[in-house]
Amino acid sequence: MKHNIYPDDYVASTYDIDFAALAKQGYEGVIFDVDNTLVPHGAPADERAIELFQWLHNLGYRVVLLSNNKEPRVKSFCEKVKFATYIYKANKPSPKNYRIAMENMNTTVDNTIFVGDQIFTDVWGANRAGIRSVMVKPVLKWKEEIQIILKRFIEALVMIPYPLYEKKGNCKKVPLIQKNVEKDGEA
Ligand SMILES: [Mg+2]
Repeated sequence: MKHNIYPDDYVASTYDIDFAALAKQGYEGVIFDVDNTLVPHGAPADERAIELFQWLHNLGYRVVLLSNNKEPRVKSFCEKVKFATYIYKANKPSPKNYRIAMENMNTTVDNTIFVGDQIFTDVWGANRAGIRSVMVKPVLKWKEEIQIILKRFIEALVMIPYPLYEKKGNCKKVPLIQKNVEKDGEA
């Protein structure tokens, strides 16, 4: 189990992650944070999110939304993306609900991956539960409340040594979608 708070990988966006490649590696379950990981804070599911969940479903994944937000927000998001279940007021970074999410998906720490945007809730909780953690840059950070902005500032400070941590070979890189290849295909 990892005892630090750093993510296994830190990527620009949830939508850059190549879940098809991860499925080939044996991954069967994905746990997502919602706010700022899939859409801006409080925003409804958009076309991009709906397509992602359809894609994950087609790949055979089970998906759980794990949010510290209240039920109406998480439930309505879940209903719109479909193909997922949800846990609200998840009390991250407690590892408890990460474990319940895995139970619900019938997956283990070996074939589950977590994606979230905050170190002290999302990533720390996943690490404590022993789940591979991917941190993403927040979808829209400039519209946030002041206390979240302050938290992000502290997070940014904590992430300063991360490139060194990465360099030492501590990270487990996720495959990313090759966007140039896609563009060539469309042309
Ligand atoms: Mg979030």
